[in-house]
Amino acid sequence: MAKLTPMMKQYHDLKNKYQDSILFFRLGDFYEMFGQDAKKAAKILDIALTARNKGGGEKIPMAGVPYHSAASYIEKLIKNGIKVAICEQLEDPSASSGIVKRDVIRVVTPGTVIENEILAENENNYLAAAFKYGNYYGFSYTDISTGEFYLTEFPASETDKLKDEINRISPREILLDQKIAQTKLIKELQNIYNFTLNILENKKYDRLYQGILDHFQLKSLEGFGCEEMKAAVYAAGQVLAYLGDTQKRTINQITLLKAYHLEDYMVLDSASRRNLELTATIRDNQRSGSLLSIIDQTVTSMGGREIKKWINQPLIQKKAIEQRHTALEEIIDNYQVLDKLRAELNEIYDLERIMSKITYQSANARDLVALKNSLAKLPAVENLMQNLKSDLIIEMQTKFDLLEDMHDLIEKAIKSEPPTTITEGGIIASDYNSSLDQLRDLVSSGKDWITKLQKEEREKTGINTLKVGFNKVFGYYLEVTNSHTDKVPERYERKQTLSNSERYIIPKLKEKEAEVLGAEEKINDLEHKLFIEIREKIAQEVERINQTAAVIAQLDVLLAFSYLAIENNYTKPEVNNGPAIKIKNGRHPVVEKMFTEQFVPNDCYLDQTEQRFVIITGPNMSGKSTYMRQVALIVLMAQVGSYVPAEEALIGLTDRIFTRVGASDDLTTGQSTFMVEMNEVANIVNNSTEKSLIILDEVGRGTSTYDGVSIAWSVSEYLNNPERIGARTLFATHYHELTRLEDEYPGIKNYNVLVEEDKNGVHFLHRIIEGRADDSYGIEVARLAGLPEEIIISAQKILNRLEKNNQMPVRKLEKTVTDSQHQQLPLFNKENNPVLKKLDEQDILEMTPMDAMNFLYSLKKDL
Ligand code: ADP
Repeated sequence: MAKLTPMMKQYHDLKNKYQDSILFFRLGDFYEMFGQDAKKAAKILDIALTARNKGGGEKIPMAGVPYHSAASYIEKLIKNGIKVAICEQLEDPSASSGIVKRDVIRVVTPGTVIENEILAENENNYLAAAFKYGNYYGFSYTDISTGEFYLTEFPASETDKLKDEINRISPREILLDQKIAQTKLIKELQNIYNFTLNILENKKYDRLYQGILDHFQLKSLEGFGCEEMKAAVYAAGQVLAYLGDTQKRTINQITLLKAYHLEDYMVLDSASRRNLELTATIRDNQRSGSLLSIIDQTVTSMGGREIKKWINQPLIQKKAIEQRHTALEEIIDNYQVLDKLRAELNEIYDLERIMSKITYQSANARDLVALKNSLAKLPAVENLMQNLKSDLIIEMQTKFDLLEDMHDLIEKAIKSEPPTTITEGGIIASDYNSSLDQLRDLVSSGKDWITKLQKEEREKTGINTLKVGFNKVFGYYLEVTNSHTDKVPERYERKQTLSNSERYIIPKLKEKEAEVLGAEEKINDLEHKLFIEIREKIAQEVERINQTAAVIAQLDVLLAFSYLAIENNYTKPEVNNGPAIKIKNGRHPVVEKMFTEQFVPNDCYLDQTEQRFVIITGPNMSGKSTYMRQVALIVLMAQVGSYVPAEEALIGLTDRIFTRVGASDDLTTGQSTFMVEMNEVANIVNNSTEKSLIILDEVGRGTSTYDGVSIAWSVSEYLNNPERIGARTLFATHYHELTRLEDEYPGIKNYNVLVEEDKNGVHFLHRIIEGRADDSYGIEVARLAGLPEEIIISAQKILNRLEKNNQMPVRKLEKTVTDSQHQQLPLFNKENNPVLKKLDEQDILEMTPMDAMNFLYSLKKDL
């Protein structure tokens, strides 16, 4: 290898340490990239790729961006999931002999962004970590732009939980150990969420644990309730260590570590989240059209992020849910307070993100003013809150800090409309610092003196157009137009000639100038120093400010729910630990808003005895899916703490909602529709309990009719059976055979969608009624659609024949296993071979698919 120039050697040494990042190597006014980095960046950033001599006559690809506009380039790389290591010159190049010292001062990664330009207002930007420790998975995540930091753990056998958590928070970046990183699950998830993945080496538990203690300046984690959650602590420790490695500083914005337990929340697997379109639509993954888009009536960014968390994490404890409902009831009764509070909150900026910039030392004076203006609203908010007495609001009030000292500090110290730069003065208010005031007096008297000089010189020279001016190159000067230059006295020294004027200086002007400029420089330095001090003082109070921010976020959500309930005529649901779900005139919260057509409300009744498993039949587009989703959403909304779109609702608390809705090929994972469907069904069968709510839409459709009906039939039996699962289930199907289940099993009931037919055609009334649908309905629709009578008659005949020949087994599944006989199988000898003999005796044409399956099973046992 050719000998490298000293600078390229420095570059390579650094690059070796940051292999997975693009290294921005500071060279004068540019950040330069070399080699593969340069090639990759040039393509993404659309900048020129050149080459540089790296020593020994060899060339290396190179690309660069100007340092003053680096932010927009970094943003683009980050959005492409790329990490950027920023390497600065650590000494003044003119002062150093030999090569300038350089080092990486921060690695910007997709999960550690604090820059507003890159962040979405109402979205968290999470960095997550999953590590196996002992027999557990530890899971932890943080958003350093808001200071949140969470951790939890669960048995390593329950990989689904890892999937659900990643799905719930959809992080931008994940830290994993080697083993987890190689699982199929992670590859699948990465395809969907496109997060940046970091495989970290295993570190010693004690070191990670100590890292957390050091960060929070604690002696143990008892106070955070996670001292014993070792796997969780392990993951959280990795998060902090990673932040240290990349940010090269302590993230002071993180002041709390919140341990949570999955069993405290309703479980929503990724398929159900998607199918119910909680935060994004299935079709185009957009927020608009999702439940969130309807429910999110918050007015602050903090509330916007909070409401998303609530929707994604419904509660299961009656008391906590009722607390929210009670708070809403009171707010709705006091709707004037509601309006006033919303108006006040509307004026409050994103306190969490401002605080993150403040603690990160990247906030400017305008950020401080935004903070002040927001804090100015707090007394009014507190006053209004005092009209409300529900437990939840009272609890929030105890945590609400008016932060008057912070407000007053900024009010006193910072001008009301400061510039964005913090090094050029104009920031600090007068009367805040006496040295600053003196310097300012000096400057303004100097400037007065200069203005007076203009008048004096005009009189002395008789040039009444003479002007004093200022520019950055020459400083102050006297300007005389060409028509008067003959009157210019000897003592003027010419400095610059313009097309129609001359510029001069005189010694006493220059003396004053030195005084003024010297003072101005001092002012800028002093203002900068004072600003940093004030910012630091505020940073010290981050915990108090964040606590108030959290109250505002929650309050905003409660107000949003109240507003939503009033606007859309929602009612307060009753929740209990009983088995029933009873909804009177329920509506779909999104569909009712999206279409101009009048929405038809529907009832729902499910319990554990009479009506546990409801089979819904009816034509396409009649409203089956809408109905089932609406029931699931009403249950979910109730458990989130919201009012619900119904006239009355009683919700027996639900531990999980499962949905298997619609057949869509999962292109991202390359699985067939049927395989995806069966995976989801397996998940439901394996994880549901009698407290679950299951929504099944067209299960079994991805395969042949016989397969499909058989699977749907046996899944139904299993789910309805209280000895197996006994879950409350709504099942929409095209298989009319399944309506016979009602005759066989207690708990199963048929419903269908009311269809009206008159001479003008069919009308879907979207009303769900008891009983099974007319199964020749498809043929009726075909007739109405104008198919020739000959086809219709033929179709009817075929249908009748099919129905006669292919009846489903109307009987319970039973074991038809005979005693196994152990015998050597002589090849091709029917008489001596019990398996072949049995096979010979069966009339295959008389068998139903279910019989065939059982028969095969018994044959296998005989082998
Ligand atoms: P299916 O599942 O039976 O094929 P959908 O539930 O997809 O039918 O409903 C089809 C369309 O009918 C919906 O997009 C909606 O526009 C309308 N619809 C469904 N339910 C109702 C209702 N209760 N009131 C009014 N319109 C409805």
